[in-house]
Amino acid sequence: MKKGIAASSGYAIGRVFLKVNEQIVIAKKTEIDKEEEKRRLEEAIEKSRQQLLEIKERTASEIGEGEAEVFESHLMILDDPEFIGAAMQNIESEQLNAEIAVNTVMDMYLDMFSDMEDEYMRERAADLRDVKDRLLRNLTGSIYASLDNLEDNTVVVAHDLTPSDTAQLDKNKVIGFLTDIGGRTSHSAIMARTLEIPAVVGIEDITLSVKTGDIVIVDGVAGKVIINPDKETIKIYEKKKLELQKEKLELKKLANTKTVTKAGKEVIVAGNIGAPQDVHKVIENGGEGIGLFRTEFLYMDRGELPSEEEQYEAYKYVAEKMEGKPVVIRTLDIGGDKKLSYLPLQVEMNPFLGYRAIRLCLDRQDIFKTQLRAILRASAHGRIQIMFPMISSLEETIKAKDVLKECMKELSSEGKSYNENIEIGIMIEIPAAAIIADELAKHVDFFSIGTNDLIQYTVAVDRMNESVSYLYNPMHPAVLRLIRMAIDAAHKEGKWCGMCGEMAGDEEAITTLLEYGLDEFSMSASSILKARQIIINN
Ligand code: PEP
Ligand code: MG
Repeated sequence: MKKGIAASSGYAIGRVFLKVNEQIVIAKKTEIDKEEEKRRLEEAIEKSRQQLLEIKERTASEIGEGEAEVFESHLMILDDPEFIGAAMQNIESEQLNAEIAVNTVMDMYLDMFSDMEDEYMRERAADLRDVKDRLLRNLTGSIYASLDNLEDNTVVVAHDLTPSDTAQLDKNKVIGFLTDIGGRTSHSAIMARTLEIPAVVGIEDITLSVKTGDIVIVDGVAGKVIINPDKETIKIYEKKKLELQKEKLELKKLANTKTVTKAGKEVIVAGNIGAPQDVHKVIENGGEGIGLFRTEFLYMDRGELPSEEEQYEAYKYVAEKMEGKPVVIRTLDIGGDKKLSYLPLQVEMNPFLGYRAIRLCLDRQDIFKTQLRAILRASAHGRIQIMFPMISSLEETIKAKDVLKECMKELSSEGKSYNENIEIGIMIEIPAAAIIADELAKHVDFFSIGTNDLIQYTVAVDRMNESVSYLYNPMHPAVLRLIRMAIDAAHKEGKWCGMCGEMAGDEEAITTLLEYGLDEFSMSASSILKARQIIINN
């Protein structure tokens, strides 16, 4: 048995798929047969081509043509004489073996690309790196662990899962996941809760403790894993699973009730989503709105930025499905632990304190405006509210609102409809914002407290780091004071205050938050009914 951090509740009994990427080791041969090396390179190119064609076709049919385009770029690199021709040339003139020849040429271009000012060329560097890895893997025979073809009842075990890995998981096959690193509020944990997949993270050495094919029990309630359990233990867990299902059925009875405390205060219990389709789980669980749409997931697992039209369709879809209930769309929050392969950013010492979210959007107004226009246009189809993440100052708030106003003007002159009175809110997730909340409240319609970040910045505890997770405490008095300040400041200006960090669904915190006067609690769909039960019994 191994202990970790309970990241997503529930039990799963399944077979391990160990996702470890074997390191590619390349060595220089002292004596080479040039013809043989050229033949090896040609063989690796052909193998890579076949793999890419297959992935491209599968992506196009299962996800979409747009998403498949990235693989077309990879295929083009394979045919580009600048790269491949030069590698062949290296074998011939420099007497290099195939893997060193590929590595030398590709690295030279990668260095060149990453120094370039041109954004497009820098983005191509990510493609080139992928193709280089694929060629080297095919040349050296090292294995690339892929999540594409999983068996039924799979428990994915990995050192870490990036948010884009998690987004790719086949929800019909994956019944649980376990990782070496991560905390309760790392984005892969949040995704697991959204998908209602039991998960335990931060188990430190789980990837060294299991192998593909092992049977494991994922106990997402207690945060533990049992490896190759005996029959008796399996029986116990099957019973626990049944009991949990019964409890869920009982909670379902609360799906259509309002959330009113015993004292008569009505609050909203809403759901957090990452993909438009997640809205269905929120509706099933009786969510009274969407308190956070993490739009960055629309930007992941694809080859380029999503267009205005694509985003408009996604936002409109959610607004329409919610049938007039509020939908808070948060603008792009990329950076930190969320990265885009086609938008390479500088390597930063402290990505969570770096070029992230609103900072990036105010700098890249081309990206920002495309999104704002899409959100505004969708606001004609439901009760959409807009929210800016990572606000640390009044200046940023005003600047973001100015860009929004510009987009409104553009749309008006184009004769496109949108809600001119759209509610504008900000996230309170940086201590500075909580401290100046009285000022900020004068300029916005609502706040939503992002405790996932607020806690990490207040207590100086990386939300991804399991070795300091014992300090990551939502009930730390400093955190509670900041929360209270934000709620009071909003109320003083007649504005409402919600919370969309994981603390909103934390069974231990709800009573305190109610006491502070929080108006809206937004959480993973799977926590909604339990939270409602606690609130109505309060
Ligand atoms: C938060 O920080 O609490 C939040 C809701 O945003 P995210 O988890 O996406 O950073
Ligand atoms: Mg945040």
